[in-house]
Amino acid sequence: MVPPEPAPSLPVLREPVRAYVGLGANLGEAAATLRWAAAALGDLPDTHVLRVSALYRSAPIDCEPGAPPFLNAVAALSTHLSAPQLLAGLQQLELAAGRQRPYRNAPRTLDLDLLLYGEGRIESPALCVPHPRMHQRAFVLRPLAEIAPEWAQAADQPWLAAQVLERLGPLQG
Ligand code: AMP
Repeated sequence: MVPPEPAPSLPVLREPVRAYVGLGANLGEAAATLRWAAAALGDLPDTHVLRVSALYRSAPIDCEPGAPPFLNAVAALSTHLSAPQLLAGLQQLELAAGRQRPYRNAPRTLDLDLLLYGEGRIESPALCVPHPRMHQRAFVLRPLAEIAPEWAQAADQPWLAAQVLERLGPLQG
């Protein structure tokens, strides 16, 4: 009997996943860096940018006294990358923007956090999704709610009002 032909090896086709990325910067030309990063997210393999929130300015949280304020935004992506692949792409963009880590919570030219990866829940030493601190941060929840209205209630919690956050206007053009 002739053995069956082996199945041709096919590339893994993964359904696109809606992911949300938090962008932050408080060193250098922060607004220009965030604009660059929002566009560069769409250059990651098999990824495109669906929406980008407005640009916000926030008071630093968990930083040394006198740390400069942050500029923040959130981007929605559609991606075929796995969550670890996407995180690796975000870290490459941070490096390309000159990110250094001289000490914990140092000012940064670019910080990219993977906030949400579809309905995915991941808890590994290198990656936690949903991002573990996103629910406590107005600078994440407010821009997120702009582009993902299902987060509006979380973003409206009265205790978030104590966090200094100013909506500056469109990030892009
Ligand atoms: P940071 O200094 O805030 O940029 O934190 C980066 C570190 O957090 C890296 O070691 C990542 O592996 C880890 N990390 C864990 N979960 C996440 C996430 N959801 N998004 C970004 N970095 C994460």
